Amino acid sequence: MFKKVTLTLWVLFTFQLLIGQGIGYKDKYARGLYDKALNGLNDLKCRESLMYSEQLLEYALKKNKYDMAAASYNIIGLNFEEFGDLKKSIQYYTTGVSYAKLAKNDTIENYLYNNIGNLYYFKLKDSKKGLYYYQKSYELSKRIDTNRNIAFAEINLADVYLDLKEYSKAIHYLNLVAQKKAENDYEMGMSYYSLLAFYYQKQKDYVKAESNFLKCISGFPYVKMEYLKAHKMDIYFMVYEFYKELNKTEKALSYLELHDKLQDEIFSEERNLEIQMGGGDIDALAYKYKVQQIETEKKAQEHKILASKRFNKVVLVFLGFVIVFSIFIFKAFVNYKNLSKKLADYNFQLQVAREKSEEATRLKAQFLSNVSHELRTPLYGVIGMAEILESEHKEIKDSPYFNALKFSSHYLLTLINDVLNVYKIEDSDIEFNYENINIREEIGHIKQSMNVIAKSNKNEFIIDIAENVPVFIKTDLTRFSQILINLVSNSLKFTKRGKVTLILSMEESNNQRYLKLDVLDTGIGIPEEYLDKIFEKFVQVDVNLQEQYKGTGLGLSIVKRLVELFNGRIEVESKINEGSKFTVHFPYIPADKIEDCNQLKMHSHQKLKTLNILVVEDNKINQMVTKKLLEKNGHNYVMAENGLEALLLVEENKFDVILMDINMPVMNGIEASIKMRNLGIKTPIIALTASDKENILKEILEKKNGLTDVLVKPFEYSDLENVISRYIS
Ligand code: ADP
Repeated sequence: MFKKVTLTLWVLFTFQLLIGQGIGYKDKYARGLYDKALNGLNDLKCRESLMYSEQLLEYALKKNKYDMAAASYNIIGLNFEEFGDLKKSIQYYTTGVSYAKLAKNDTIENYLYNNIGNLYYFKLKDSKKGLYYYQKSYELSKRIDTNRNIAFAEINLADVYLDLKEYSKAIHYLNLVAQKKAENDYEMGMSYYSLLAFYYQKQKDYVKAESNFLKCISGFPYVKMEYLKAHKMDIYFMVYEFYKELNKTEKALSYLELHDKLQDEIFSEERNLEIQMGGGDIDALAYKYKVQQIETEKKAQEHKILASKRFNKVVLVFLGFVIVFSIFIFKAFVNYKNLSKKLADYNFQLQVAREKSEEATRLKAQFLSNVSHELRTPLYGVIGMAEILESEHKEIKDSPYFNALKFSSHYLLTLINDVLNVYKIEDSDIEFNYENINIREEIGHIKQSMNVIAKSNKNEFIIDIAENVPVFIKTDLTRFSQILINLVSNSLKFTKRGKVTLILSMEESNNQRYLKLDVLDTGIGIPEEYLDKIFEKFVQVDVNLQEQYKGTGLGLSIVKRLVELFNGRIEVESKINEGSKFTVHFPYIPADKIEDCNQLKMHSHQKLKTLNILVVEDNKINQMVTKKLLEKNGHNYVMAENGLEALLLVEENKFDVILMDINMPVMNGIEASIKMRNLGIKTPIIALTASDKENILKEILEKKNGLTDVLVKPFEYSDLENVISRYIS
């Protein structure tokens, strides 16, 4: 509306008091700077004003007083408007808005919006942008301001709407002003009545327009403020144009005169001011630079603060970590004692557990030994009785019942022996008894004992010993035979109407000579998925086969363990329905001197003469079996029920050999033997026992028990003959 002259000062006046109130500083220093900056602006001493506002800004930013900074920017903006640097001015106002928002200071934000609105509307003639900022200001004003200030905001809006020719909106706001305006508020009256008059002029209601213009001018004398001169001048011009429109030329010219007079006054004042401001542009540049410097410093400071905050954060995190770590260490230390105590407890428990396990192993071995004894003793009776029956009643040989009895008793014996063997071998509770053996001869014996099974399955059993295999080798004959017998008997069991071949050859690898044993058959073969399982305990390929072949599933696990104890290796290859091949690589140990071997040969298979034998046995059935066996082979015998009886008998009589049971009541076999030796009796004492042979053998070697050798029940006569022949010439 008031297009002709700059209204900055008027606007400033409107808000200068408000700004002061809005800041409300308690800080005297800041307040002082603020007042000086504002006064400088009021007096249009822009250099001064800028100097103080710049100092205030520096102080505000240092102290992080954002509302103070916003107020500083507001004054700086106003000053730059005066210099005519509008771009920079908007920039400062906008920065001021940011700080006002940061400080959550609606009052200062309101001033800034209002000033931006003024700038766009009056200076840049951009009514729309002006309206935008006035509206923002009005919204804030309604929330925080007095009615008078709200009315001023509404006046601004009415002004813009008139300019935009939106008359209904303009009158709406003017009506709102009317509700608030005090009767004697001439200052507000100047704006209100002039705008209302203009509104009616546009509505062609010239009567109302004229009366309002007159009301406006009648108030002028009450408005003393110098800086409202420009406003008065504008209003004179409006009235001039009004009368001109009505073609009241005289009246129009009189108002133009008033206008020109005032314009001259203001013009000369402005010239003075320009002189006062002196070189304003240069100063403006300098201040621009200063303000930029302050901002740069502020940014640097903020960076520093940020960096130090970051550093603090890092330190805090580090400290936190150190604290947590310390707590952890402390706790760990506190726990350490508990832990070491717990550890000691666990160690103790472990020790107890280990002792228990060792005890359990010992008990297991003892249990097995006892059970085997308990089982083998009656079994000796069963097998022996069957043999006696067979020899006395030849016709019984063809009875299927008798054969079933014989088969079952033998199977039971194999099972017991296997179970005993496998646990004994696993506990490594086994010592090899190395001796020189004639390998071809021993293989011959094995062939003989295997012939029965070979025949029953109608198999051809071939032995092929390579020429480079030495005549004598040194090994533990019992274990060596056990390996071969197990493999060969398996092949013979699982082959029907086929061929089983045992090949012996020599091989060498890594400077070690091996005796290579191949057991080949043309039998049922082993499924591939079973090839690595058959060496485990109780594994049998087919349960149906088990029925048919009556195995225990322990043979191969015993073989594998024995081969390993000899430091050898065992391999298997097989194809279903084609046959199997088991290969043992057996480390070769050369035999001792040849003479010893010849001696060995001479000793074996000596036919026994008639002997006087003392049999010490408490079990009546076993007495019968042994008696029959000796009678059958033409020997003389005397029976003793226990060790003590035997002791009395040897003092009175001379015997060629004593067959001594071990477990007996009154006096056991070992005690009796020791006592006999103590009496100077040299007769060979052969232990006939169902219990564990190994322990007794060990004691014999250590000369602890007075025994000469041991034979495990049940035995066959040939076994007995073999043992006795070693000690009777
Ligand atoms: P078993 O007393 O059952 O023969 P082993 O441990 O000696 O026990 O053998 C385990 C299983 O391996 C046998 O039950 C059989 O299924 C298989 N087996 C062993 N040797 C042969 C073979 N020569 N031919 C076919 N199968 C065999």
